[in-house]
Amino acid sequence: MVVISKSLRISSSSNFQIIDITRDIVDILNEINEENKMGNGIVNIFTKHSTSSIRVNENEKGLLMDFEKALKGVVKEKDNYKHNFIDNNAASHIKAFFLGASESIPIVEGRLDLGTWQSIFFIELDGPRSNRTVDLTFIGE
Ligand code: ZN
Repeated sequence: MVVISKSLRISSSSNFQIIDITRDIVDILNEINEENKMGNGIVNIFTKHSTSSIRVNENEKGLLMDFEKALKGVVKEKDNYKHNFIDNNAASHIKAFFLGASESIPIVEGRLDLGTWQSIFFIELDGPRSNRTVDLTFIGE
């Protein structure tokens, strides 16, 4: 078994932003393949921040706008939130609670085994931020 830890640094440019990180993960997996030969396994993609999320879905512009609209409909921006007395970003945390902090993707013969229309997204919920970290843990053999 092989376990390889890597990380991505991500900068966001607006309060809400969906960033496709599929290419970055494929590039890192290709580097790993050159050295270690990953074979079959899994990669866990985990955001280190409680006002951001990692999700898998389709990178279609209209859909991403629909998702933003739906999320804003589910979580009110202002609602006398208690956390806002400390840190004025309760709505961002609540969205992250609903969405989740990680995804795990199968790796088959050294390649990410995503569906045809699937991409991996970092979702910024409290930007802009210059220093977001996403941990990648590759486990395989
Ligand atoms: Zn907070």
